[in-house]
Amino acid sequence: MQTQSLVGGKWIGADDGSTLAVTNPATDELVASVPCGGAAETGRAIDAAWGAFKPWAARTAADRANLLHKLSSLMQRDTDRLAKLMTLEQGKPLAEAKGEIGYATSFLDWSAEEAKRLNGEILPASAPDKRILVLRQPVGVTAIITPWNFPAAMITRKLGPALAAGCTVVIKPAEETPLSALAIGELACEAGFPDGVINIVTGKPAEIGGAIFEDPRVRKLSFTGSTSVGRMLMASASKNLLRLSLELGGHAPFIVFDDADLDGAVAAALACKFRNAGQTCICANRFYIQAGVYEEFAAKFATAIGGLRVGDGFEEGVHVGPLINDDAVTKVESHIDDARAHGGKLLTGGKRVKVDGRADRFFAPTLVGEMSSDMLISREETFGPVAPLARFDSEQEVIELANASEYGLAAYFFTRDGARTMRVAEALEYGIIGANDGGPSTAQAPFGGVKHSGFGREGGKYAMDEYTELKYVSWKL
Ligand code: NAP
Repeated sequence: MQTQSLVGGKWIGADDGSTLAVTNPATDELVASVPCGGAAETGRAIDAAWGAFKPWAARTAADRANLLHKLSSLMQRDTDRLAKLMTLEQGKPLAEAKGEIGYATSFLDWSAEEAKRLNGEILPASAPDKRILVLRQPVGVTAIITPWNFPAAMITRKLGPALAAGCTVVIKPAEETPLSALAIGELACEAGFPDGVINIVTGKPAEIGGAIFEDPRVRKLSFTGSTSVGRMLMASASKNLLRLSLELGGHAPFIVFDDADLDGAVAAALACKFRNAGQTCICANRFYIQAGVYEEFAAKFATAIGGLRVGDGFEEGVHVGPLINDDAVTKVESHIDDARAHGGKLLTGGKRVKVDGRADRFFAPTLVGEMSSDMLISREETFGPVAPLARFDSEQEVIELANASEYGLAAYFFTRDGARTMRVAEALEYGIIGANDGGPSTAQAPFGGVKHSGFGREGGKYAMDEYTELKYVSWKL
C-alpha cells in the first residue's frame, strides 16, 4: 500500500511529519496514515508539474497514448488489489469497487485514443495571400481535486484527457480516500510516466487549494465535488483566471409514465438509487410516478428493495455498504424525519441497520411515499439510500416539477412512447438524460451538468476541449 505523496517522481511525507488517518468506514479501524501536506508540498508539486510540462507536451501523441494504455492495463492487472483498497477506505461492496476500476480504466483508454485525434484545422482565409491555421495546444499545469465517492474513476476521468492533451497534473484526492489515488500514482510510475507529469498531494484542502490558486503557473482546475465547495473554488480561481471544469452536486428526478415497462423501471430505479449506498452525484433523488401506476410501482419497488442486503462491503452478496461517515448517516436521518413531519409515508426501511462487530453507519434502503415539494428531500442532495416517491398526472406537470431544481446533472424517465421520449428529453434541463436507462455513464459520452451542477464535460472527444486551448495563426504568404 502506497502511503506517501508523489512529487516530482519521489514519494514524500509532509514537511512537518504530520499525517492524516484513513479509516475503514465499516469498522472505524485505521487503514493507513498519509501525509498531511499543505502549501509547501503543493508548491513543490507545481514546480515539478511545470518543469515536466513542455517536454511532456512535446512528446508525440502516440507516446502519450502508449503510456495511458499501459497505466490502464496495469490497473486492470491489479483490479483485485485496487478494489480491495477501495472497499477498505470507501466502504462500497467489492463487486462495485471492481466495476469502478473497469470504469476508471475506460477513461484512460478512451483518452489515449483521443490523443491521436487532437487535430488542428486550416480555415478559408480572408485574403488570397493569407492562410489561417488553427492549432490545438494543451492548457498547461492542471490541478485536479476529487471527491471520495468514486476514488479511482473521478481521478482517471480527468487524468486521462489531461495527460492525453499534453497537460501535467497536481492531484489532491479526498481525505477519506487517498489510498486509491496513491495506488494509481504508483502504477503510473511503473508504467513509465516521466517524473513530474503526475503529482499527488494529500493533506489540508484549504492550504493545497491556496497554493494552487496563488501560483500563476497553474492554468486549469478540474474539480468534482459539492456545489458549495465548487462555488468557493470558482471564486478563488478568479485571481489567476483559471480555466475551470466543475462537476458538482445533483438532484436527479426519476420519472415513470403510465406506459412504461414497470419491471424495467423498477430494476433501473434499484440500481440507480442504491449503487454506492446512494452516494452518487447522478443517483435518483426524487421519483415522480404517474398516478395510474403509482401504487403498482411503489409495491414492486418496495419488494425489490427488500431483496437488498446491507453489510460490510467485503462480505459476499452485500449490495449496500456503510455510509462514508457519521454526518452522512445523520443527514439521511434528518431527511427522513423531515419527510415524515411533512406527511411522507415510510414504506420500507427508515432506520440504521446493526451489522455485528461493525460501526453504526449502515442504513436500511428506504422508500418514502407521498413526497411533496416542501420536504428537504425533494430539493437537497440526500447522498444516502433513500427513495422518495411523488405522484403526478400530466407530462407538462412532471416536466415543471423535474426542472424546479437548482441542480441540472442527471434526469431519468421511463416511457414506451417514442414521440414523448424526444419531447421530454429536450424539455428536461439536465446535462445527462437516461431515457429508459438508469445507468447512462460511459467513457464515450459527455458527462456533466448545467445550472448549479457546474459546467464542463468529461468523457469522449468532448473532454479534450477542457484541456486544450485553440490558437490561430494568420499567415501572410
Ligand atoms: P466536497 O466536500 O466538495 O470535497 C471534494 C474535494 O474538494 C475533496 O478533495 C475536498 O478535500 C476538497 N476540498 C474541500 N474544500 C476545499 C478547499 N477549500 N480547497 C481545495 N479543496 C477543497 O465533496 P465530497 O463530499 O468529497 O463529495 C460529494 C459531492 O461530490 C456530492 O455533492 C456529489 O454530488 C459530488 N459529486 C459530483 C460528481 C459529478 O460528476 N458531478 C461526481 C461525484 C461526486 P477534503 O476531502 O480533504 O475535504
